Amino acid sequence: MRSIPYIHGLHQIGAGDYVYLHPSGTWCRSNSGLVVDGDEAVLIDTQFGLAEAERLQQAIHATRPDTQIRAVVNTHGDIDHWWGNQLWADVPIIATAAAAEQMRQDRWWQLINDLKAPVPAGVREFLNGIGEAFDLNGLEPTLANELFVGERELQVGHRTVQLIDAGPAHTASDVFAHVPDARIIYAGDLVFSDTHPVIHTGPVDRWIAACSQMLSLDPAAIVPGHGPVIDSAGLLRFRSYLEHIRDHAIACQRKGISVWQAAATFECSETAHWSDADRVVINLAAVYRENEPTDASVPTELHLLGHVDATAALQG
Ligand SMILES: [Zn+2]
Repeated sequence: MRSIPYIHGLHQIGAGDYVYLHPSGTWCRSNSGLVVDGDEAVLIDTQFGLAEAERLQQAIHATRPDTQIRAVVNTHGDIDHWWGNQLWADVPIIATAAAAEQMRQDRWWQLINDLKAPVPAGVREFLNGIGEAFDLNGLEPTLANELFVGERELQVGHRTVQLIDAGPAHTASDVFAHVPDARIIYAGDLVFSDTHPVIHTGPVDRWIAACSQMLSLDPAAIVPGHGPVIDSAGLLRFRSYLEHIRDHAIACQRKGISVWQAAATFECSETAHWSDADRVVINLAAVYRENEPTDASVPTELHLLGHVDATAALQG
């Protein structure tokens, strides 16, 4: 498969397969997918906020003016994948029941908008960095309304899209969309490329297994939730990163080393150029918590977000 330039906008990756890329891939800059047959299409993830969702909608209209979006899929419950749903509120919005529950319990709307909401040190600056970088005017978070558990098959014209929940991994439920006739996987946040992922929930071993599951489908192209489109070699590198995180966390935790010290000594030569390296400590802490759930000395993800400079990341 030819390489797809990492440029903001809609790109064709197969006969009826598209990706909407949103560089740089850092916080809330996610990718969307579009699978088309004839005048029907399914949209996979809807960007973050109305302004970006409208850019996505306009790009689709400019490229495929006769195409109607028949359904939307939300790969998981993180806000940067469904806070554009509002524009497609009149079609089925499909997600797993667990992802929909995360959307229903979403606290980010309140945290971003209520400047007095109590948050750990540094987190207000993180939230302000997000709030300033994105236009969230007019946004009414619109929940998925057609739910499934496990797997579901969608028809787009004569084509089939398989929705497979391979979580919990990145979040409580993480769907990837497999398009067998094009050998394309829209991976949601089960895959990041050229940027460190975030382990919100784990277990990390299930995430590693999800990578193996996707590799077993022999995809020609994998569209990550964040970052450029990759091939199987890129997915192997990503799986290897997760294995490094797991193994380093386990080794350091056994020696009684703090997550901060563990992050300072984390090395993964293949991914040394990836952006958002401040997520390493978040990921190591997730594995620490997974192995020792009652260890109160391991900082929570929200506390660790207080050490992330979102403004700098979003300017980069
Ligand atoms: Zn996510």
